[in-house]
Amino acid sequence: MRIDLHTHSSVSDGTDTVAELLVTARAAGLDVVALTDHDTTAGWSLAEAARPSGLTVVPGMELSCRWFPDDQPPISVHLLAYLFEPTHPGFAAERARLRDERLERGERIVTALAAAGYGISWDRIVERSEGGVVGRPHIARALVDAGAADSVDHAFATLLHHRSPYYVAKADTDVREGIALVRAAGGVPVFAHGLATKRGRVVGDAAIAAMAEAGLLGLEVDHPDHSEEERAHLRGLAADLGLITTGSSDYHGTNKVTPIGACTTDPHQLEALLAAGTGSAPFGD
Ligand code: AMP
Ligand code: ZN
Ligand code: FE
Ligand code: FE
Repeated sequence: MRIDLHTHSSVSDGTDTVAELLVTARAAGLDVVALTDHDTTAGWSLAEAARPSGLTVVPGMELSCRWFPDDQPPISVHLLAYLFEPTHPGFAAERARLRDERLERGERIVTALAAAGYGISWDRIVERSEGGVVGRPHIARALVDAGAADSVDHAFATLLHHRSPYYVAKADTDVREGIALVRAAGGVPVFAHGLATKRGRVVGDAAIAAMAEAGLLGLEVDHPDHSEEERAHLRGLAADLGLITTGSSDYHGTNKVTPIGACTTDPHQLEALLAAGTGSAPFGD
């Protein structure tokens, strides 16, 4: 069984449509794939309709969150959420707030870049996202199209990284509140790429223990942005805290170089995850 539990479609900041992503998943030999677009469940019904036979799709999402340390500015953390009830009112309202926050912040980044002479337009970026949830990869692509960067990665490395003068933070959900919302909606919260230092500051072990105390059920251990040492450390923490461990690609189509299925989840861990999720069911044969 080949299982990849973290992928993005064009419903958020990936480049494959949901249908294309599922075909790609099957062609890569996956048996199970989770669709985890940022802050939206808009792809779930598309996945259910387009699912190729032989492929199981786990409905999921990646929720944008923050951890608030006592003595430092907030740290961006991403929470994968699986098998939750999509109509849970409190959780649906929080997702809507996050999407609004993305629009406001994206426009601020693009306005600053345009004022500095980069030939990109917010209206065109929104138009090209075709109703999808907008993120920095959309801005990166516009910079590539405008000739201001060679690739999406290059745009991140030069203009869009978290220390760039053009970077604007978002008012993302307090991760403990995010965990509580996912659990209240019957879902399974898993801390995504928790030690990916190349993305910015990361939280310490005490924060992860506090998240477990708040109801976190899993850690994403195998991820393209984690070193072997980081994976080993997370695996140890998961064992200490009694958490599920996952491995996934964080596939974004051509917005990243990582192929789908680049990291995978152990079938026993998937079993535990499926047993814990009560808000919705996987789509399968
Ligand atoms: P945002 O949600 O708008 O803050 O944008 C973050 C998204 O950009 C995440 O999905 C990341 O996976 C993606 N991202 C971060 N760094 C890079 C990079 N160097 N190249 C491509 N995508 C990136
Ligand atoms: Zn993304
Ligand atoms: Fe993420
Ligand atoms: Fe992701």
